[in-house]
Amino acid sequence: MFNSLSDRLTATFKNLRGRGRLSEADIDATVREIRRALLDADVAVPVVRHFTAAVRERALGAEVSGALNPAQQVVKIVNDELVTILGGRTRPLQLAKTPPTVIMLAGLQGAGKTTLAGKLALALKEQGHTPILVAADLQRPNAVTQLSVVAERAGVPVFAPHPGNTSDHDTADAALVGDPVGVARDGVAEARSKQHDVVIVDTAGRLGVDQVLMQQAADIRSAITPDEVLFVIDAMIGQDAVTTAQSFAEGVDFTGVVLSKLDGDARGGSALSVAQVTGRPIMFASTGEKLTDFEVFHPDRMASRILD
Ligand code: GDP
Repeated sequence: MFNSLSDRLTATFKNLRGRGRLSEADIDATVREIRRALLDADVAVPVVRHFTAAVRERALGAEVSGALNPAQQVVKIVNDELVTILGGRTRPLQLAKTPPTVIMLAGLQGAGKTTLAGKLALALKEQGHTPILVAADLQRPNAVTQLSVVAERAGVPVFAPHPGNTSDHDTADAALVGDPVGVARDGVAEARSKQHDVVIVDTAGRLGVDQVLMQQAADIRSAITPDEVLFVIDAMIGQDAVTTAQSFAEGVDFTGVVLSKLDGDARGGSALSVAQVTGRPIMFASTGEKLTDFEVFHPDRMASRILD
């Protein structure tokens, strides 16, 4: 992830090393290089435009004096702007004043929701919480089993619909069978009655954004009034990330983003676009298939990683 972007930016900054005051032409040439590097990394065009305009304006206005030479100053400006587009500050999970904290997961099929449910549960358990998972994905026959497996690996209980209540269709067009809204609601009630302080509700995804998927996610959201709705997005989907994220922002109104598969060799554009385009913070990153491959997302650390 970010390897090529990182190399391109480093090469651009290298050209500035040892230089005195930078002329407007120098700055424009540098900004052009940064623009190309970002576009090649699949960063969304409006985000690139905004980013490069901010870098250019600050570089032109930068004072020569101070501890940093012009090259270092440009690196610092780019670093600051990367932190900004990545959401600025780390945004911790919002816990409910009165437990249970209800966390709903949303996203396309294959995004990594079920895996994330286990990762989040394990991390919360290690912090002393008592999470329970709720299997409200009745779309895929395997989804309930898969969540149960993940729950077992995390060592947390799972609330699942009774057998026979699940769909045995697995095509994108199959009508939704069973009542995912009811399961989600019952799961939250179960968490409350058994005094679990966090309840993580896994919902169905589909292969692409569609009305049925959005309506179901919106209905679940209204039924359980979650404290957090985490939109899980596969960082590997490249340019499609932005339109998918926008659709979910409008359809479900998520509170935070989880970037999954950051361990892959994606060019990183989605990671750099999603927070800015949706106005929602990136809260966690998923970095592998193991339940421990999971981290709180720190915009400043990610920016440093890119500029390393
Ligand atoms: P869901 O359909 O959204 O519930 O997605 P799943 O949790 O079932 O994940 C889909 C596939 O991606 C599975 O094979 C997971 O093991 C894999 N996966 C999930 N998260 C990650 C990740 O962060 N990195 C990698 N490499 N694979 C992941």
